[in-house]
Amino acid sequence: MGNDGGSISKRDEMVRTKASVQKVDASLLRQSLWTVCRLSREPLQAPVVSDALGRLYNKDAVIQHLLQRHQSSDSTDAIPHIRGLRDTTDLALTPNTLYRPASAGQNEQHSVYPFMCPLSARQMDGMHRFVYIAPCGCVVCASGLQATLTDARGESHNCPVCAREFNAALAKGGKVQGSDVVTINPDKDEEDKMREKMESRAQHKKKKARTADREDGEVAEQEAKKRRKAERKDETRRRIAQLTAELAAEKA
Ligand SMILES: [Zn+2]
Repeated sequence: MGNDGGSISKRDEMVRTKASVQKVDASLLRQSLWTVCRLSREPLQAPVVSDALGRLYNKDAVIQHLLQRHQSSDSTDAIPHIRGLRDTTDLALTPNTLYRPASAGQNEQHSVYPFMCPLSARQMDGMHRFVYIAPCGCVVCASGLQATLTDARGESHNCPVCAREFNAALAKGGKVQGSDVVTINPDKDEEDKMREKMESRAQHKKKKARTADREDGEVAEQEAKKRRKAERKDETRRRIAQLTAELAAEKA
């Protein structure tokens, strides 16, 4: 019934091949996440920016996209959560000293990954967790960053690369919420949390804008009241002047 040794070995071979194809796919995916712009699919090249979801883009590609967005009839926008450059952070990346473009030919000393951590010199190759610090954009590996944080300082720390102050909640094992530390290319679970944070922040901004609108309305209302009062005063003054003039005319 086909259950002879031949078909079993063929099946084994198939399973092995499938597994190795999956392995190749995973490694290609990893390579593309850390070497290629998510938008243009071009090799990552400074200036590189990231967003609230920790994705990597060439800044030029994002600008191009934003400029052409209103002309595009395509209803599926690749980056709907980026409404302007204000929704991105300029990254301060450290060039990997072992980097050599894949097209230039590789040997075992070369790396296709263009960036590395300035603290640990680890390559940014998807094998280690990397983060960026939102206020300054410095990109470091998470363990390198953790090693620089002391408990004495609570959540507020200075960037170990550029010394700018930031909230280190996430790097200290705290929540994504409130933290200035953003994971680059997070796994699915963390990306969900980051998306939640991004959306709640957008909601908060909208609410704030609505409150500001209402306050503007109140100010306008008060000014209108003042104006009406002044107009009434003018009217009374005019009336008095008129009556005075009439009285004077009668006397004359
Ligand atoms: Zn910094």
